[in-house]
Amino acid sequence: AHLDRIHAVDSDVHAFLHVAADGARAAARAVDARRAAGETLGALAGVPIAIKDVLCTIDMPSTAGSKILQGWVPPYDATVVLKLRDADLIPLGKTNMDEFAMGSSTEHSAYGPTHNPWDLDRIPGGSGGGSAAAVAAFEAPLALGSDTGGSIRQPAAVTGSVGMKPTYGGVSRYGAIALASSLDQVGPVSRTVLDAALLHDVIGGHDPRDSTSLKDAWPSFAAAARAGQQNLSLKGLKIGVVKELGGDGFQAGVTQRFQEALELLTSAGAEVVEVSTPSFEYAIAAYYLILPAEASSNLAKFDSVRFGLRVNPTGGGTVEDVMAATREAGFGPEVKRRIILGTYALSAGYYDAYYGSAQKVRTLIQRDFARVFSDVDVLVSPSAPTTAFKLGEKLDDPLSMYLNDLTTIPANLAGVPGISLPVGLAPEDGLPVGIQFMAPAREDARLYSVGATLE
Ligand code: GLN
Repeated sequence: AHLDRIHAVDSDVHAFLHVAADGARAAARAVDARRAAGETLGALAGVPIAIKDVLCTIDMPSTAGSKILQGWVPPYDATVVLKLRDADLIPLGKTNMDEFAMGSSTEHSAYGPTHNPWDLDRIPGGSGGGSAAAVAAFEAPLALGSDTGGSIRQPAAVTGSVGMKPTYGGVSRYGAIALASSLDQVGPVSRTVLDAALLHDVIGGHDPRDSTSLKDAWPSFAAAARAGQQNLSLKGLKIGVVKELGGDGFQAGVTQRFQEALELLTSAGAEVVEVSTPSFEYAIAAYYLILPAEASSNLAKFDSVRFGLRVNPTGGGTVEDVMAATREAGFGPEVKRRIILGTYALSAGYYDAYYGSAQKVRTLIQRDFARVFSDVDVLVSPSAPTTAFKLGEKLDDPLSMYLNDLTTIPANLAGVPGISLPVGLAPEDGLPVGIQFMAPAREDARLYSVGATLE
C-alpha cells in the first residue's frame, strides 16, 4: 500500500531519492513467511520506514543529497539501519535532504527540492524535508531523520508531523554521514508521539562503534508515551516558556496556536511559568561558526580518491588539481559557503576570535539550560517562527534561512532532547504549527509522556 502511495504522489512531492520497491517487497514477504512459521518477530515487524539519505545503507545509494556521492553504495549499514532490520521494519527507500544536511528547506538538495504535501508550492522544512514529507503524505508511517540544528524538528513542525531529537549520544551516529559531529543526532519522524517513541526504542542505546554513544540503560519510551496517553493530568509538572524563543518576529498564527497549547497544558494541571535564557540570543551566531568549522573538517574526506565523484581536469593535472576540480563540480553553493566560513573561522589568525568565542557562547547556553532546568521540568517554545514558507522565498538570502533555526539550535548546542508535535493550523494560511518541548539531557522519556498527554 505504501509503495502504491509513493507511486501515486511522489512525482509531485519528491520525498524520495531512491525507492527500493523490490527490496521492500522481498523484506515484507520474508517477514510474512516467518510469521506464518510461528517465529518470534522483531518489535515493529512489517512496518515500512523511510530513511534519510544521510544514513549509510548497504543495499541502497547514500548520497546525503550531494552530487559528490551520486550513486555511492556504502559497504556497510549505519547502526540505526541495522537495528531497523533487526526489528523487522521494512525500508522503503531513501529520502531527500539538503546537501550534507545544510539547510532548512530541502532546496539545497542537488537533486531538486521536496514539496510540502500541505501546499506543493511550499517548503517541507529541512534538512530532512524528504522524511517529514514522506510521513505527512502517507508515503511512509515512520521515517528516520538527523538533527544538527533542527533538521528533524523543523520539518516535522511545518508538515504537521512529530519529530524527536534525542539526547546527544542517545542514538548511534555510526554510519550517519557527519555534518557537525558534536551536534548531530539521529531520531524518529512519525505521525504520533507513540509512534516516535516506538521507533526510538528500536534505534536507541549504546553503540561501541560510536565513541560519543552514552552507556545509559534507557527506559522504554513507548511505555512513557502510553503513560502520557493514559494519565491526562499534568499535576506536579512545571513548564518553562522560553521568553527568548517567541514574541516579536513570530508569525501571529504560530503564536496563537502556541498560546492555546499553553492553556491546554495549564488546564491539564501543569504549572506554566516564563523563564529567560539570555544567551540564546547568540545561539545562531555561535552555531553558524561551530557548524561550518566542524563541517569543513568532516567534508575534507571527499577528496576524489576515497568516495564517489572524480573529475579529471582536461589536459591532466596534479592530485591537487583533480581534488579541486572534483570538489568544484561535486559540492553545491551552500556547502562551499560553509566550507569557506569554517576554514576561515579555524584559521590560525582568527581561531580565538571566532571558533573560540563561539565555544564560549556554547558554554553560556549550556549554563542557561542548567539554570532553568533547576527550576522547571520541561521547556516549551514554538518549533519554528513561521509556518512553511514558499519555495524560493529565502533561497537567495542565506541569513534569513539561518534565522529560521532560532528555536531549534539551542537544544543541539547543549545536547538536550527536543520534540516537536503538531498543535493545529495557523488561521491565516491553514498550514501546520508545531510546539517544541525540551528536557534535560537523558530525560527523553519525559518528552514522550508530556507530548502524548498534549496530543
Ligand atoms: N537548518 C540548520 C542548518 O542549516 C539545521 C541543519 C540540520 O539540523 N542538519 O544547519
